[in-house]
Amino acid sequence: MESIDWSNLSFGYMPTDYNVRCTYKDGKWGDITVTSSQTFEIHMAATCLHYGQEAFEGMKAFRGKDGKIRIFRMDENAARLQSSCRGIMMPELPTEKFNEAILTVVKKNERFVPPYESGASLYIRPLLIGTSAQVGVKPAKEYLFIVFVSPVGPYFKEGFKPTPMVILRQYDRAAPLGTGRYKVGGNYAASLVSGEKAHAMGYSAVLYLDAKEKKYIDECGPANFFGIRGNSYITPKSTSILPSITNKSLMQLAEDMGMTVEVRQVPEEELATFDEAGACGTAAVISPIARIDDLDENKSYVFSKDGKPGPICEKLYHKLRAIQYGDEPDTHHWVTIVE
Ligand SMILES: *Cc1c(COP(=O)(O)O)cnc(C)c1O
Repeated sequence: MESIDWSNLSFGYMPTDYNVRCTYKDGKWGDITVTSSQTFEIHMAATCLHYGQEAFEGMKAFRGKDGKIRIFRMDENAARLQSSCRGIMMPELPTEKFNEAILTVVKKNERFVPPYESGASLYIRPLLIGTSAQVGVKPAKEYLFIVFVSPVGPYFKEGFKPTPMVILRQYDRAAPLGTGRYKVGGNYAASLVSGEKAHAMGYSAVLYLDAKEKKYIDECGPANFFGIRGNSYITPKSTSILPSITNKSLMQLAEDMGMTVEVRQVPEEELATFDEAGACGTAAVISPIARIDDLDENKSYVFSKDGKPGPICEKLYHKLRAIQYGDEPDTHHWVTIVE
């Protein structure tokens, strides 16, 4: 067996030993199967290829100091995948099946779960696609659920550091009553052009405004937004943002810390009043925001002048990671230990 250089992992795909699959046929889900193949054959008229019947999830497993493997908020990912399925007319995968698939793929690839000291983790990618042939616009009759895993390095290689983000008013990611609230591939296709443009200009991500009025903060390409003002944690309410499980967890931790949590529309001008701002999601937990430039309006909102994250971002980040790695007690029952 080749050895893995745990300290130099990136956030990319590394092949592992196994992935798990489950098919939906004749109105029901079959048994979970384990395979070493990294590919599959698919009908050229499959609905996932033409009409975007694809939903996915992103989650992580962590190895603790005690050597145990912990999976964070698995039931929440199962529920969100079910919501995405309802959103694009795919059959819901039952929570028990989802959990069985996740536990199986993690156990089978145990040797790829990075050691505690590395600060790395095992990224888990479930996806569900329509596979049967369809030419007219209609949902498929058959589906495939796959879960693969890949060890990933710590998101912040040079430490936990704020980065600049940008508002690009000529692009939208999702419509107010469209699919923004579902974790579907189509939303990502819609964000690629603006995302690449932002990267080329030296920004880490686009911060999208609401598509209808261009007045309120929506979210970043792959992460929710939050602002900190005094003792308040403020995060946008919108029908076009994906309900982040990291955001939900941070709201709980902020409340535990005695902060006030506000979930409501956040007008862009309010950015000027925030002491700190961040993007949150599974990949990084929190990406502190150094500055947001609204290029078309010639405005700039600065949250970090010294290149350091604010104290609340720092505290929330360390608290959540400590729970994920098992360094602090799991008082909210967020963690599943893989036995
Ligand atoms: C996955 C995702 C997030 C982050 O969700 P987490 O559950 O915290 O990982 C945020 N926004 C979008 C658009 C996403 O797809």
